[in-house]
Amino acid sequence: MKPLQELTRPNIWSLAPYSSARDEYSGHAAHVFLDANENPYGSLNRYPDPLQRELKEQISKIKGIPAENIFLGNGSDEAIDLPYRCFTRPGIDNVVAIEPTYGMYKVCADINDVEYRPVLLNEKFQFSADELLAACDENTKIIWLCSPNNPTGNNLNSKEIIKVIQQFEGIVIVDEAYIDFSTQKSFRYAIAQCPNLIVLHTMSKAWGSAAIRLGMAFASKEIISIFNKVKYPYNVNELTQRQALEVLQDPFAVDKQVRMLLQERNRMAEAFSQLPICEGVYPSDANFFLARMCDAQKIYDYLVEQGIIVRNRTKIKLCHNCLRITIGTKSENNELLAALRNYR
Ligand SMILES: *Cc1c(COP(=O)(O)O)cnc(C)c1O
Repeated sequence: MKPLQELTRPNIWSLAPYSSARDEYSGHAAHVFLDANENPYGSLNRYPDPLQRELKEQISKIKGIPAENIFLGNGSDEAIDLPYRCFTRPGIDNVVAIEPTYGMYKVCADINDVEYRPVLLNEKFQFSADELLAACDENTKIIWLCSPNNPTGNNLNSKEIIKVIQQFEGIVIVDEAYIDFSTQKSFRYAIAQCPNLIVLHTMSKAWGSAAIRLGMAFASKEIISIFNKVKYPYNVNELTQRQALEVLQDPFAVDKQVRMLLQERNRMAEAFSQLPICEGVYPSDANFFLARMCDAQKIYDYLVEQGIIVRNRTKIKLCHNCLRITIGTKSENNELLAALRNYR
């Protein structure tokens, strides 16, 4: 890996971050707060902890990662945007990513005026480390990987992921939004050995909390401290921190839902493969699957008329005529199947 200073935007490396009232006294037990110009009355009247210490402690226990290696953000969206703002110079640097994958990596590249270099997956939706590395040049700062991948649903080959992490001189980001549905071992355990690795998780999928907007990044404490410098001071609000603590109390409830959803996914994938209008279902390691249909656009429009929304991916590379089906409750899934069986 190149030295972190070389990978960081010069203005960010030398940035003196905003120091909030709540940052400055830390370490002392205080009970009178006359430092932040808040109204002393009410229940949500105080600014939240800018570094979400209590929540990180809890996540640390569940994920088995030290709190100092955790960044929390306003959804993964924030953790996807921050690496651009920290590491890439607009108009100069570029990033490399697999294609197709999650759309936010490209949107954030465009917003930050950073060249985005997609490298097509093969017909099994796998990638070659050598091909990704060949797409890099001296201004490539980040490689984006997503495993299980969205919209394809499959785990990426972990040997190839390791090869990219070991051979790339810049930052490798592995987005594991769907890892709780997968049997693949999380790459978060590798951050201690890999100073150029960032692993993303979210509360939005298996943890059932898309509404609260909480995403996390696991990385070296050096990378985490750069993120902490650049983020908004109070990026994770108090309601989100409280609700996350509540949900994290009961990881077994999440496990149970995950098992149910995986069972339903297998049932749905099997049922889809029996539909005359379905030409094939791709193997999935997530809570959704990609199905190739005879005419995705027409079927999509028909389902909308029935009040059922799936994701039409037909215009995405390698996904011609594909619908992405999220696994819902048993009755929602059955409603979708019934509608498709009545499609003429
Ligand atoms: C859904 C999803 C996320 C989650 O984003 P949040 O902002 O945390 O809701 C992240 N990455 C991928 C690949 C996803 O599909």
